[in-house]
Amino acid sequence: MAARESLKILSEMPTVLRTIELARNTYDFTDQSIAQVHADCRDGHRVACRSGCTYCCMVPVAASAPEVLSIAAFVREQFDDERRLSLARRVEANISATEGMDMNQRDRVRLDCPFLEAGQCAVYEVRPIACRGYSSYDVEDCREDYDHPGTGVEGHTNGLRELVFGAIREGLAIACRSASVEHRLLELVRAYKIASEDSTLAETWWSRPEAFEATTGESVFPGPWSDELNREFEEVYRETVSDLERK
Ligand code: SF4
Repeated sequence: MAARESLKILSEMPTVLRTIELARNTYDFTDQSIAQVHADCRDGHRVACRSGCTYCCMVPVAASAPEVLSIAAFVREQFDDERRLSLARRVEANISATEGMDMNQRDRVRLDCPFLEAGQCAVYEVRPIACRGYSSYDVEDCREDYDHPGTGVEGHTNGLRELVFGAIREGLAIACRSASVEHRLLELVRAYKIASEDSTLAETWWSRPEAFEATTGESVFPGPWSDELNREFEEVYRETVSDLERK
């Protein structure tokens, strides 16, 4: 469903609005699917996530090009100059503090996400799929993970919710790959910086496969973990595309 709907949008003429529509449709689908998971599992009351709790906003986030571009467009529209400048400073500080690190190393540094403002996500409406999908049954797990980063603290959560948001993100990636546009996961902060500095990118990324190159690939998401994911993705990609063609 995520792949089919996204492909429909990607088959039209590239415009800023279509890029934003692509991200927003995926966000809506993610939110609806997560609500359905908790309704079916009758476990919504167990989710410990609350406004103002930011433990999960201190781990590095991976997001797709449409997600990053929709955040940059949102900031351009909604933030005044002072707020935009302040965000740009936090982005620079985050990039300097994590220079040369891959995602595993960044995960151990535990810096505030630059989009945090007074303990709240300043781009909540357009936050990435990963941020929408993440949840915890117990804040103590999150505190423990924050205190001991990289030690494999196991969080208790709804596994179906994890599978669902992962599958939706994969569906979007399959559609992007099929339309020959950037389909890889990007490191959110650096990719946002690129998108924020080029207001034409929300339209031109469709024909600029190199635009986010510095924020993805082996140096950011190192193997063998990423090799395995890439192999899995190739398999799912082939199966999904042949399914879509049959239909
Ligand atoms: S984008 Fe928002 S929800 Fe996601 S990590 Fe950053 S502050 Fe948290």
